[in-house]
Amino acid sequence: MPLKKALVGVSMLLISATTSANPLAGYRPVDLTHSFDEDTIYWPTENDFEHEKRFEGITEGGWYYTAFSVHTAEHGGTHMDVPIHFADGTWTADEVPLSSRILPAIVVDVRAEAASDRDFLLTRQHLEAWESQYGRIPENVAVLMNTGYAHFWPDRERYMGTASRGNAAVAKLHFPGFSASAARFLGKERGVAAVGLDTPSIDFGQSKDFIVHQILYEQNIIGFENIAAMDELPATGSWLFALPMKIKGGSGGPLRVIALVPESAS
Ligand SMILES: [Zn+2]
Repeated sequence: MPLKKALVGVSMLLISATTSANPLAGYRPVDLTHSFDEDTIYWPTENDFEHEKRFEGITEGGWYYTAFSVHTAEHGGTHMDVPIHFADGTWTADEVPLSSRILPAIVVDVRAEAASDRDFLLTRQHLEAWESQYGRIPENVAVLMNTGYAHFWPDRERYMGTASRGNAAVAKLHFPGFSASAARFLGKERGVAAVGLDTPSIDFGQSKDFIVHQILYEQNIIGFENIAAMDELPATGSWLFALPMKIKGGSGGPLRVIALVPESAS
């Protein structure tokens, strides 16, 4: 290619790079992630998050250097659940497509109900009431349930009903979740791609069979748990970006999740 023609090509590329539209224009990012630290809430049977210092200080070469190792269960803090967690032969953490993690979000606000009932279950009827107000829940969206419990973080007693640890503590868990009827409705009748909420589990604390995990994950629907406060999210119009650690063969993993909220919503 003659040099002149090549230069014209390069300058056109530069022009298009500098003038391409900002894909975030009109949206405001909101972080929906709790920091990982010694207070991070894990299931009562899991170990705490460990941030182990490997080195901090001046090296022999004279420069400053610091680095840590992290130790964490896949399911703790703000995290993603993937279908293999409860359904054999389904997606592992590295297999979940981006389309299930970058997607429109709808928010079901149940803060009032959950404030007066620690064992609150979101039912099909609640979702139908939401639809009568905002329209039919579209396919391939994330359905987020805002219980308000994110505001109790990191107080275990208030957040999950008990600060006890170990197997015996599991029976003392009290926090809201999705019901089996809601799971069947969202999976079979609406074809959503993901669900999420600001409690430790998509099944409520008193669940004995994790039926919501079973129903949703066998349909390759994924879950986001321990999401941080969603109060700035409108019922419709936001986009969710859920970018977990990509653990090969994993059943889930620590998650950085943000929402893009339309500026018109604030
Ligand atoms: Zn989980």
